[in-house]
Amino acid sequence: MSVKVRFAPSPTGRLHVGNVRTALVNWMFAKGQGGSFVLRIDDTDLARSTPEFEQGIEDDLTWLGLVWDERYNQSKRFDRYEEAAARLKAAGRLYACYDTSEELDRRRKVQLSRGLPPIYDRAALALTEAEKAAYEAEGRKPHWRFKLDGRRVAWEDLARGHAEVDTTSMSDPVLIREDGLFLYTLPSVVDDIDMAITHVIRGEDHVTNTGAQIEIFEALGGPTPAFAHMPLLVGADGQALSKRLGSLSIAEMRDQGYEPIAITSHLGRIGTSDPLEVGASIEALGAGFSFSKMGRSPARYDTADLDRLNAQALHGMDYATARPRLAELDADLGETFWNGVRGNLQKFRDIIEMAAIVRGPVTPVIEDPAFAAAALAVLPEMFDETLWPVWTAAVKEATGAKGKALFMPLRMMITGQAHGPDMATLAPMIGRERIVKRLGGETA
Ligand code: GLU
Repeated sequence: MSVKVRFAPSPTGRLHVGNVRTALVNWMFAKGQGGSFVLRIDDTDLARSTPEFEQGIEDDLTWLGLVWDERYNQSKRFDRYEEAAARLKAAGRLYACYDTSEELDRRRKVQLSRGLPPIYDRAALALTEAEKAAYEAEGRKPHWRFKLDGRRVAWEDLARGHAEVDTTSMSDPVLIREDGLFLYTLPSVVDDIDMAITHVIRGEDHVTNTGAQIEIFEALGGPTPAFAHMPLLVGADGQALSKRLGSLSIAEMRDQGYEPIAITSHLGRIGTSDPLEVGASIEALGAGFSFSKMGRSPARYDTADLDRLNAQALHGMDYATARPRLAELDADLGETFWNGVRGNLQKFRDIIEMAAIVRGPVTPVIEDPAFAAAALAVLPEMFDETLWPVWTAAVKEATGAKGKALFMPLRMMITGQAHGPDMATLAPMIGRERIVKRLGGETA
């Protein structure tokens, strides 16, 4: 059996780190086993779904390297859902309800006041045809509930181990709203069957759903896929991220300059026993993924870790990979430059500042003009890789300065900054003419 999974976002917002983690784990699991990854746009809610968000989802997944093998829109498959609903109705598993939300509320309150669980009482099952006709005549439209078997639904969860949901403790789920809208529950099952999905991988917030959906898979004649419910994301403070996810969109992270591989390495490895290091590629992450590495404790999403992985990705990036991006930023000063400065990058675009140190203009910071003059007097003619050791030895000899008192003023004069890349790499690239000007206090 070849593995086939799906990522099923609703196009009602941009992707955030929570749903990208779901997409990524699906992708890694499938690709690690030579399987396929389906992108399914859950857009049955036509009022809230937009083409812009749908495009945003595709753009974000593509940017991250999460390429899909097949792609569907639920909005193009309503005939399949109608057909499944008709079958469930015929089997007595989908029944019309006319209760208003006020009525349901009132009954829930009564149940709670009597210490009973607030489960739908199935009053609608007892309606006669005449009563239904009377409601229709009043202008009420039915919503449709799935009649649960009411039993222990059990499955072997790839992430949680043995899992059980007791559907007697649940209200019969509404599958179709009174305005005719198919809620996600039924279309999802119909699609998983039609598309031959072998594994449904999603967040632990769907566990209860799974109990009801397994009953629907069975009512429709299956097959029922395997399930994995991942522990949810928490922030660095250990608190659930769910409420803050809106501000953690992938689009924003891209604007902030994060590398896709840093994001995928972070989201793919938190909550697993793998070390939090940057992966060689997204394919390598997939090859190394296994649910057996995933613990049951929540996965900790920490921006400090992401920053570290981002820097790691840049520090190990070779020139061939960096080159087109350097060119795009007009910061391609050659391989020696890249290799010399990449270890100082936090974000790729920091390279612009590094290139500016070489090319100028730099406003030198000269605290001691006499020191600057002394350094200038012993500046070698030869500008090759030996420049820095030869020159600093000569400045030391001439001024008696050493250590920080020697190196810091030179750096400040030449780069205008207290910190930055290795001067031995930078100085020969800056070139004699500019260094002479900078030591003379001129912007160059
Ligand atoms: N559209 C659903 C959601 O985003 C899909 C859940 C699922 O994976 O089944 O919650």
